[in-house]
Amino acid sequence: MQYKSIDNLPLIEWIDLKTVRDSRRALLCTTVSAEKLFIDFLKSFNFVKKIYIESADELVVNKIIKDRKTDIEVIYALGGGKVNDVARYIAYKWKIDIISIPTILSTDAFLVNCTGLRSKGCVKYIPSKKATKVFLDLSILKKSSPRYHLSGCGDVLSIYTALFDWKYTIKKRKAKSDEKYSPFMEEVAMAIFNGLLLEAGEIKRLSKKGFTVIVNSLAMEVQLCNLYGNSRPEEGGEHFFTYCIENKLQNFLHGEMVSFGVLLTSFLQKQKWLVLKNFMDVIGLNYKPDNLNKSIVLETLNEMQAYVRMHKLRYSIYNDFIFDDKKKQVEKFLNILEIF
Ligand SMILES: [Zn+2]
Repeated sequence: MQYKSIDNLPLIEWIDLKTVRDSRRALLCTTVSAEKLFIDFLKSFNFVKKIYIESADELVVNKIIKDRKTDIEVIYALGGGKVNDVARYIAYKWKIDIISIPTILSTDAFLVNCTGLRSKGCVKYIPSKKATKVFLDLSILKKSSPRYHLSGCGDVLSIYTALFDWKYTIKKRKAKSDEKYSPFMEEVAMAIFNGLLLEAGEIKRLSKKGFTVIVNSLAMEVQLCNLYGNSRPEEGGEHFFTYCIENKLQNFLHGEMVSFGVLLTSFLQKQKWLVLKNFMDVIGLNYKPDNLNKSIVLETLNEMQAYVRMHKLRYSIYNDFIFDDKKKQVEKFLNILEIF
């Protein structure tokens, strides 16, 4: 048996940010809206430069990296998934510490050690720096719209469709050497998934426990992938659909589109999907991202087989998906979801 090193989670601290002091010369990576809402929490920090992160496009990000300011000692990422993803990549390239302050819990981006840059119409995961620390301040989280936090459940619900695609890959004898099936990983992943469903009441209320459930579920999902060695237990067709539709629709919340992708993909996998829709309805998770409509969904599905093959994404049901065979069923499914 081969042993490999196992990465772990960043240090996560629930803290009142107004009590934190840091005199190091810092770069603030944020967005205009996050800065406006939360800058009062960061008065005791020594920000000497600020960058607004608007895009995870590889060319745009590389431009920021070239423009290095050598006197910066630490980076603070204040924002959601994109800000955290890009700021950790800048920290990796500049070889300095990065501290993450998530303002929303919309993805697992503040917990991982890679960054999904957008390049040639797809997402390319490249190594980046894991946050040295993650500061979670309940007053900050409570100030953000619940919609954003609830969407964070998407990256846990994706376990449901990702596990199916993993086993499908094994059945089709398409598994690569780094995606060997592990019943242990499957059981643990399902336990994380079921644990989230159990706490629907707390998540809906977004109580302190509700926030903790979302963070801990994301943390366990990320740690499971660290132990396995890649994201096979958590990322499948639902994410690939999300990457593909990004070429037609912009500015949606990753977690909301992944949640729609989970419903759609589990329907196509002939899995039970109503239980997931019920959970999303109970907690108030929006699975109809802004501007999503029937024709965009159908157009995306029509391209899925060619898309996953062209970008050499991990094997999933979309590798064998024939759109014309399923078009009518999908139309019915979209009617049930009231996506017109
Ligand atoms: Zn995701």
